Amino acid sequence: MRYFARPDAVDALDAPIIKKIFPRYRKVARGQLPAVFRISKGIKAEFDEGADIEVLWDMHEQLMRAFYETRRNIDSGQIKPEDLKIQERSLLDLKLLLVRRIMESCQLCERRCGVNRWAGELGVCRVGDRCLISSEFMHMGEEPYITPSHTIFFMGCSFKCQFCQNWEISQWYEEGTEIDGKSLARIIEGRKKEGARNVNFVGGEPTPQLFWIIESLKHCNENVAVVWNSNMYMAEKTMNILNGVADMYLSDFKYGNDDCALRLSKVKGYFGVCSRNHLIAAGQAELTVRHLVLPGHVECCTKPVLKWVAENIRDRCLVNLMDQYYPCWRAHLYPDINRRLAPAEFEEAVRFATESGLNFIR
Ligand code: SF4
Repeated sequence: MRYFARPDAVDALDAPIIKKIFPRYRKVARGQLPAVFRISKGIKAEFDEGADIEVLWDMHEQLMRAFYETRRNIDSGQIKPEDLKIQERSLLDLKLLLVRRIMESCQLCERRCGVNRWAGELGVCRVGDRCLISSEFMHMGEEPYITPSHTIFFMGCSFKCQFCQNWEISQWYEEGTEIDGKSLARIIEGRKKEGARNVNFVGGEPTPQLFWIIESLKHCNENVAVVWNSNMYMAEKTMNILNGVADMYLSDFKYGNDDCALRLSKVKGYFGVCSRNHLIAAGQAELTVRHLVLPGHVECCTKPVLKWVAENIRDRCLVNLMDQYYPCWRAHLYPDINRRLAPAEFEEAVRFATESGLNFIR
């Protein structure tokens, strides 16, 4: 079956701005280059499952050098994509083992709960030792160059956004459906054959379910671009794991200061973590920065976020300035966000983005 995308999605990969900012993603989406997880699968790895975690990290660093070289050679045409041989044991398997180990005292995100997920202990995200999804479908309303996007909604989240539009998923008002990595791989392959430009891992937040996401890619035989759709609160080591897994980060950069983040998403140290991870993401892969303009937060959040992006990663990302906020979940408890965005607020955000010289869509 072929899906009819939003009309502007059809030629989106040929738009000059997309060619400039997403040169690799657009080729992966068209099957002209391998997704980075497939390159990771082509890097041979020999390791002892029981080795000390520091030994495994050293090996990861070494193998990432081989990954960079292989990617460079493939992208420059020195190695043909079809000559990339999938290894029986690869860098992707090593990443899977590292995530397994991290989850023994979970530090996947900067909550750093320290719970043993394999013993069924639950941290802030309340994701334990099983992969639970809410739904998966072909999303026709994402950014035009991403659409049609095979979107997989994972249960649970490391944030507690008081205005969450997916609160049934993020805050566990649904039970979710359990799935294993192999079954997920078959679904991803099926959606790719139906015409998906990518697989889009989202939630909630995908970070707590990273183990099963990598496991699904290990078993996935299709070449599909990976979009990591996230709150960007991952630990730095998790960012290292995602290097060679994600082709594009689709980030959610909401707050321009820690106080608003603590009050509205119950999360500490937001700006430092989120900006650090945006810098890393822009160096590793391609990056779309989503910014949802919140009512009453143009001065304290929108402008500082856009200013930071302009000063640090302006030419390495495309910003999606979003005006679709509506009060949800517990927003009624916070008078500042218990209303829709005023047109003048969005116009001011657009004016500021324009003056900052950002590449942005709206
Ligand atoms: S992924 Fe979940 S359990 Fe792990 S540190 Fe983050 S919130 Fe805590």
